[in-house]
Amino acid sequence: MNFDSFIGNRKIIDRLRAKLREGRFPHGLIFSGPTGVGKHTAALMIAKALNCTQATTPDDFCDRCPSCRKIEAGTHPDVMTISVEEDASQIKIAQVRHVLSILEFQPLEGRNKIFIIDPADMMNAEAANALLKGLEEPPESSYFILITVNVHELLLTVRSRSQVYNFTPLALDELRQHGVSDDLVLRWSEGSIGHARSLDVARLKSERELMLDFLETVVTSTEEQFQDLLGASADLGRAKQGFEERMKILAVLLADVLYLKEGVDGKLVNQDLRDRLAQVVKRASVDRIIKMADFLGFIESSLKNHVNRQMLTDMLAITGNEILNDFLTESR
Ligand SMILES: [Zn+2]
Repeated sequence: MNFDSFIGNRKIIDRLRAKLREGRFPHGLIFSGPTGVGKHTAALMIAKALNCTQATTPDDFCDRCPSCRKIEAGTHPDVMTISVEEDASQIKIAQVRHVLSILEFQPLEGRNKIFIIDPADMMNAEAANALLKGLEEPPESSYFILITVNVHELLLTVRSRSQVYNFTPLALDELRQHGVSDDLVLRWSEGSIGHARSLDVARLKSERELMLDFLETVVTSTEEQFQDLLGASADLGRAKQGFEERMKILAVLLADVLYLKEGVDGKLVNQDLRDRLAQVVKRASVDRIIKMADFLGFIESSLKNHVNRQMLTDMLAITGNEILNDFLTESR
């Protein structure tokens, strides 16, 4: 593996390589972007390039020399990943202090020390403030690479001392280059090779089936079927695990319904459910679908405040049902 084999986000890789060639590599970098698009891999590649003993150019690495191999294995003494320790919920100040304590020393084996902080947004305020010292006056041979899903989660003072690179989701073709071939996996992975690799297709299909059933019940129930509707909502609200995941799946189904309404079929995530989704399209108005999607956003924020899930799913069901909604609006 080398820089040429990195898939996706090519512009970022090219810019980083140019900086390596020019010999003025920035001492503070932030790699921001969704999970599973190669941010950590890119950071390790930089660490390899800054320490490789056999590369013929400064902007690449051999991936075979002892230095490259140790970095790959996570055993190089000069390349350190600082992460959330087991049983902890944040990166602690003690971890950052340890980094600062070794910052001034010469590298032990290689030419440069690289500290990868991943995820950097899990540093508590104390730890982030301590890190500033290292970012302000880094020794010539020390480099920091901060990895985060959202650069705005980091302190402004940390951001202003680093160069920010925004990684983007991979295109379907780029995911295919990674060896992902299943169409459903490709479309559900949101451009993340990490998601694509960890996606449990069987589970996704069964959860998706539940949510499509729910959606169908919501949009087709008549007044006489009110009890059925509340029954479906109760089943959903009772689910002990995966409630948020189910809401997310429903959001994707609703987006598909809107795509079908608008006639942009190519964007459909659930191509295999096209016929059933087309039935939903026939039964529900755009207005109703948008209201449901909006309500999912409300559910997401409400869950943080421990609002009763049963109440939320009841309201979601009523929001999506034309007859009930009209009835409630008129009697208001
Ligand atoms: Zn090497």
